[in-house]
Amino acid sequence: MLIDNKKGDSMKLYEYQAKQVFSSYGIKIPNGRVAFSPEDVDEVAKEIGSQEVVLKSQVLVGGRGKAGGIVMANAGDSASKSRELFGKDIKGFKVERILVEERLDIAKEMYVGITLDREKKGIVILVSSVGGMDIEEIAAKYPDKIGKKTVNPVWSLWDYQVRELLYEAGIPKEHFRDVFAIIKKLYNIFIRYEAELTEINPLVITSDGKLYAADGRLNIDDNALYRQKEMAELRELTGSELERAAESKGINYVKLDGNIGVIANGAGMSMATMDLIYLEGGKPANFLDIGGGASSDLVKASMELIIKDPNVKVVFVNIFGGITRCDLVAEGLVKAFSEIEMDIPVVLRLAGTNEEEGRRIIENYMEKNPNKLFLVKTMEEGAKKAVELGGV
Ligand code: GDP
Ligand code: MN
Repeated sequence: MLIDNKKGDSMKLYEYQAKQVFSSYGIKIPNGRVAFSPEDVDEVAKEIGSQEVVLKSQVLVGGRGKAGGIVMANAGDSASKSRELFGKDIKGFKVERILVEERLDIAKEMYVGITLDREKKGIVILVSSVGGMDIEEIAAKYPDKIGKKTVNPVWSLWDYQVRELLYEAGIPKEHFRDVFAIIKKLYNIFIRYEAELTEINPLVITSDGKLYAADGRLNIDDNALYRQKEMAELRELTGSELERAAESKGINYVKLDGNIGVIANGAGMSMATMDLIYLEGGKPANFLDIGGGASSDLVKASMELIIKDPNVKVVFVNIFGGITRCDLVAEGLVKAFSEIEMDIPVVLRLAGTNEEEGRRIIENYMEKNPNKLFLVKTMEEGAKKAVELGGV
């Protein structure tokens, strides 16, 4: 990932989905398809008809190669090797689908990436003749091996800019024509699908001189999804199970890799809560914003969702009631505790609208059920308590 777009608000496509888009624009991709079970893997390997295949775990994170998510196999042992890969954790993501592809005979790995440059108010294109898994180190060590151009979206991408990129990146002359075409196509994809980022790393030259997109990333601007119907439909297939469950209930849930579950109202409160947890030396397991005016049912649903994540050791509920009523939040929590089985401690801070009623409901509950709930006064105190209760 030479370009790391950490913004949460883009819809990421899986590699196999991105490659389908690339292919529809005439960029060559390796022969293969996605599989959901070892039997399926075996079938694809047979369909491909090539002895040597690659098993690529489809998880929405970069650097799979170094994390053991890319496995070389033969048509004969692909099913058994995929058995080890299915269910494996790759950088916090469980492998549920595997892209099975013919194995390319790689002579050279190059790089093409396109993203938005907010500072320059343009689209930036990066090209390098040395791509692959070590692209970050290469970029840091040899900045002169990277070609970079900012495109004014009003004028679009000029051919001369693409030619300059080819020279700057040191692309071998005999591949100028092919790489030129790929850059233009990738740019057209970026514009057509209102992407925030697209990347081919590695862009491979095979030993017989052909070019393939051996990997692919395509992230679509969330705010454009109402126009990008095709992409919006893919979303069904991209989010994790939990994220999809949350979306269907209208809960804004993003999984992170720590172990303190966070429920807060409003994006600002959620972020401030996460910051405090980090300050205390802990790590949030998620970002869950119940928004303004949440009902008790929504609060209960949020709690149900959060404890489905096995990493969660403690939940911190941080509510500052404006439109949101503390008493309704309290009711939702009590409902959650009584109706769902959970033995995870919960730290609760309630302030603002109907705070008194909210605290009373909670205190009543606590009299009968001690040890499960910790009512705190301030969010700082709450963050500290959550970290103390095992959230490190
Ligand atoms: P990433 O680590 O998540 O970016 O996954 P990639 O799809 O980029 O794969 C990582 C590395 O695996 C590539 O840089 C290649 O070196 C290697 N690889 C992927 N596909 C093939 C293939 O078909 N043949 C060979 N020989 N290597 C491959
Ligand atoms: Mn890659």
